[in-house]
Amino acid sequence: MADLAVLRRGLGAAVEVREAGEADAVDGVPARVVARPGTVEGVSAVLREAGRAGLVTVVRGGGTALDWGAPPERVDVLLDMTALDRVVEHVAGDLVVVAEAGISVRALAGAVADAGQELLTDVPADRREAGSTVGGALATGTSGPRRLQRLALRDMLLGATVVLADGTVARSGGKVVKNVAGYDLARMMTGSYGTLAVVVRAALRLHPVRPAHRFVLRTGPVEEVAALGRAVVASQLAPSAVEIDRPAGSEVATVAVLLEGTPDAVATRAARAAELIGGAPGEQPPWWGRLPGGDALAKATATLTGVRMLLETARASEERHGAGVALRGSAMGALHAGITVPGPEELGRVVADLRAAAPTPREGTVVVLRASRELRAGLDAWGPVPGLDLMRSIKEQLDPGRALAPGRFVGGI
Ligand SMILES: Cc1cc2nc3c(=O)[nH]c(=O)nc-3n(C[C@H](O)[C@H](O)[C@H](O)COP(=O)(O)OP(=O)(O)OC[C@H]3O[C@@H](n4cnc5c(N)ncnc54)[C@H](O)[C@@H]3O)c2cc1C
Repeated sequence: MADLAVLRRGLGAAVEVREAGEADAVDGVPARVVARPGTVEGVSAVLREAGRAGLVTVVRGGGTALDWGAPPERVDVLLDMTALDRVVEHVAGDLVVVAEAGISVRALAGAVADAGQELLTDVPADRREAGSTVGGALATGTSGPRRLQRLALRDMLLGATVVLADGTVARSGGKVVKNVAGYDLARMMTGSYGTLAVVVRAALRLHPVRPAHRFVLRTGPVEEVAALGRAVVASQLAPSAVEIDRPAGSEVATVAVLLEGTPDAVATRAARAAELIGGAPGEQPPWWGRLPGGDALAKATATLTGVRMLLETARASEERHGAGVALRGSAMGALHAGITVPGPEELGRVVADLRAAAPTPREGTVVVLRASRELRAGLDAWGPVPGLDLMRSIKEQLDPGRALAPGRFVGGI
């Protein structure tokens, strides 16, 4: 195979390169060659050689979310990151860890747990077991329930080392060595689906594990639950998370409040939370931190007061289009929708209804993260995107040859 020979010649024995198999396809797009470097220099060499030969590169971490975003136009080189899996530095006193991007979230969690610390990604157990990596979690820009109090993964990212499409190694944040044209590269990486650069190292803020935690739950009519969720968020209870779950086709929803801290303080706050929402202490619900299932997965944002409208719209849209719309996520207004539909037309309509639940795109967005090729056909997966021209110009500056996962991101980026 020509691509394989070109890469082997350029890279020598320094990087493991092999012919791709069926399991290496990216969202249905077959890959030609797989390269698995074990060093930052190796990643740089792969991108440089691939670029020289005019080959398109797509990054793979654990491979658990490769069907998120649009499928790439083609995959000449699949860049497997799993050999870059070391903890570079854990400064427990500063609550900071620097790790290579191919390390699994699970391994990183294990490495910092001995110091009584944790990375607040809330990646659920099944995803951790499936091998989700730090780089993949950053590139998909996900966040879990505890985003409410302690911010999204993006905000825990203190700095990153990335390799640009031409092989240039660049760092941003933390101990700045080289900045690219003044951009906050680290932040730009979150949610970029591997279209701007390859993350090779990340410096992340850790948090001390809180000694006690309790859940308080209440199930009730959708409008009531939305109001209670809002009340807890606005209260003095300082919850770590307030999650709402409304299963598809259901008239009722559940609000689950997580309180963390010292045992005494948590007991007092849990009693107050139970009083406020008329609920009761309970176990962590089985759906906690997991994304809802369905034919398509979308991320829906709303204002604190807009969550109610989103929940009500889901119910109305189900009836109108013979669909199922499960909604789950933070009462603050960052939720996921698991949508089940008879066909692509209905998916388009449900998504349009959910978008219309917010008065303006500033107050709420709906982005379809995952859907089959058939369901995606004709669908406006991203919706109105402010600043698309700016995004295009950033792509043009960082990857002018469109060598990194072209077509994966909004506007064909
Ligand atoms: C609360 C919560 C619930 C979740 N539930 C689910 C779920 O149910 N199902 C699910 O699939 N996911 C779920 N996720 C998301 C998933 O865990 C993360 O997106 C995951 O970490 C992806 O990692 P990966 O290594 O498997 O990425 P991959 O699937 O390998 O890659 C994902 C994307 O990131 C890019 N990428 C990977 N590594 C890099 C890198 N080093 N530099 C640049 N780009 C890169 C890839 O090109 C691709 O576009 C959840 C996350 C959270 C926080």
